[in-house]
Amino acid sequence: MATTTDVVVIGGGVIGIAVAYHLAGHKVRTWLVDKGQPGQEASAAAAGMLAATSGGSKRGPMYQLKRASQALYPALVRELEERTGVDIEYQTPGIFEILLTEADELRYRRLYELRAEQGHAVSWLSAEAARRHEPSLTPALRAAVHFAADHHLHNGKLARAWAEAARQRGVSLHTGTTVTEARIRNGRVSEVRVGDDWVSADSVVIAAGSWSAQVGELFELRIPVRPAKGQMLAIRAPQLRHVIASDDRYLVPRKNGEVILGSTVEFTGYDKDVTLEAVRRLAEWADGVVPGIGKAPLSRCWAGLRPYSPTRRPILGRAPGLENVVLATGHHRNGILLAPITGQLISELITTGRTGLSLEPFGLPAEPHPHQDEAE
Ligand SMILES: Cc1cc2nc3c(=O)[nH]c(=O)nc-3n(C[C@H](O)[C@H](O)[C@H](O)COP(=O)(O)OP(=O)(O)OC[C@H]3O[C@@H](n4cnc5c(N)ncnc54)[C@H](O)[C@@H]3O)c2cc1C
Repeated sequence: MATTTDVVVIGGGVIGIAVAYHLAGHKVRTWLVDKGQPGQEASAAAAGMLAATSGGSKRGPMYQLKRASQALYPALVRELEERTGVDIEYQTPGIFEILLTEADELRYRRLYELRAEQGHAVSWLSAEAARRHEPSLTPALRAAVHFAADHHLHNGKLARAWAEAARQRGVSLHTGTTVTEARIRNGRVSEVRVGDDWVSADSVVIAAGSWSAQVGELFELRIPVRPAKGQMLAIRAPQLRHVIASDDRYLVPRKNGEVILGSTVEFTGYDKDVTLEAVRRLAEWADGVVPGIGKAPLSRCWAGLRPYSPTRRPILGRAPGLENVVLATGHHRNGILLAPITGQLISELITTGRTGLSLEPFGLPAEPHPHQDEAE
């Protein structure tokens, strides 16, 4: 006989953890299954920026989703830190987008004006004013925009604390366990194979990040999510106060004295190699922005796989043709930012059949979309 539970969540990155945590808060019996350890993949590899206003989403559904998620963070961090004692390193000095060319100034002038109109805390700074805040910035700086609402945190610690808080709420964690098969009857999944066991559940959530296409095949679903590799370096550099970003690259200060330097976007399958070429390019960029930083000791390097969705939006909601399968994947460069709202909305959908924000713009794309990208 199969074991029974209410919901099986496949994938224990921040997205699966967030969904399981919310479900357990509604007393839903939840299994969280990960083929490795929770939070070890993209969720550990990220930079931890919560970039809702500095990012490219102007005013549509993606912007609404980002803002709603960003607003949930302060209370969530308090809750997780109180429950687990883990310092998630939530830091609030904001993101400095630095402008080095006339074209940068033109592009960011428009975004600055829009964000000011939308009522966000944003300032346009002359080069001198920017250097008063961050004295190590290059003399070649033309100006900077300070996005004060865009905070950052330690994503590895967030995932660890969130998984522990989910366990404390009663989520049944199954680590080192892969979901390999599904039994489908009359448009419903009746059971899934978790490791050696068959588990019967009322609902199944696919939150397998870059592996969602493979997991989808078990359910006869075509989920067009694929891995977008990002290479990262950690250096021991003089502390910056803010996140410094330009050209989709960034320097993110951490409390332990490290600065995270990223990143690349590469479509090279499931390869997680760090290449000398990427290290050289990142170091060159960083040295152009903060002169001398290229001499800082390198403490670590790694690569992670972002779950890239061709629509540039996450895929959220019921799977077509399968009434009890829910999709929560494709968060690409924004999964840390979007995890709280994703957990809330998917849990609402499963427990009430409705959601506070419409999931209509986040449906599974039917046709291939042109290849596009959006900032982290
Ligand atoms: C270099 C880099 C920088 C980034 N920076 C930021 C940032 O600053 N801000 C931001 O918001 N986002 C950032 N991101 C994006 C963010 O990390 C991702 O969008 C987010 O982590 C995706 O979470 P996830 O849970 O969907 O995927 P993952 O964290 O990859 O988790 C998926 C999980 O599914 C498990 N799994 C797969 N197949 C199976 C199976 N068959 N059975 C069981 N388990 C399975 C895997 O083991 C894995 O743990 C960055 C990503 C990278 C790589």
